[in-house]
Amino acid sequence: MIIVIDGPAGSGKSSTAKEIANRLKIQYLDSGAIYRAITYLWIAADKPEKNTFLDLLPEVDLETAYKRQTFFVELNGADITKNIRNQNVTESVSDIASLPEIRKFVNGYMRNLVLDDVYIADGRDLGTAVFPDAALKIYMDASLDERAKRRFNELQQTDSTAGVSLDEVKQNLNERDRKDQSRAADPLKKADDAIVINTTGKTFDEQVSEIIDIIQNKLKLKY
Ligand code: C5P
Repeated sequence: MIIVIDGPAGSGKSSTAKEIANRLKIQYLDSGAIYRAITYLWIAADKPEKNTFLDLLPEVDLETAYKRQTFFVELNGADITKNIRNQNVTESVSDIASLPEIRKFVNGYMRNLVLDDVYIADGRDLGTAVFPDAALKIYMDASLDERAKRRFNELQQTDSTAGVSLDEVKQNLNERDRKDQSRAADPLKKADDAIVINTTGKTFDEQVSEIIDIIQNKLKLKY
């Protein structure tokens, strides 16, 4: 069974989904992390042309696991959990994620992963394209200013992004949203049957509780 949370960059989807996974004792899947891992591979391979890059995909060995509040990603045996949050990955990920062949690869990985357990996953197109039959669909949103402030504060707590200003974070979120919403293949879009949660002005605890209430009203998970 899968519960999905879609929404623009920095809307709080992943921190909220992780907290819900912890409280309800279910699995967590970070779909953005998988697009980031593929983007990391592209950068590590010296940014090859599209067709050369796509030829590498069948050889990709990807392993993911959620433990200790972290979504771990291993690519071809190397732990790249931290590397995928670096600014160079963040800048290129929406371009790599716009390639239909990459989306097909990532979607196949995710559909296979969630077969045997209860998952909550966050992304952009999960309710529309990847899991149209999800048990519950949430669409989280917040104003660009609020999302930029939250993401900036979050980044300041990691050392990989030193030197990025609030304005640069805001521009990056805006640009990624624009690319994610306008791409031809599975754009960021609210599913018709998704429940919208606008988190502007809400505390983290308020948004988590609101979504847990919705989940429990509809799915009555035992934990
Ligand atoms: O969630 P996060 O911001 O880490 O995602 C990184 C990027 O991966 C997004 O900006 C988007 O371009 C892409 N993505 C996507 N579809 C998803 C999840 C992420 O295209 N389901």
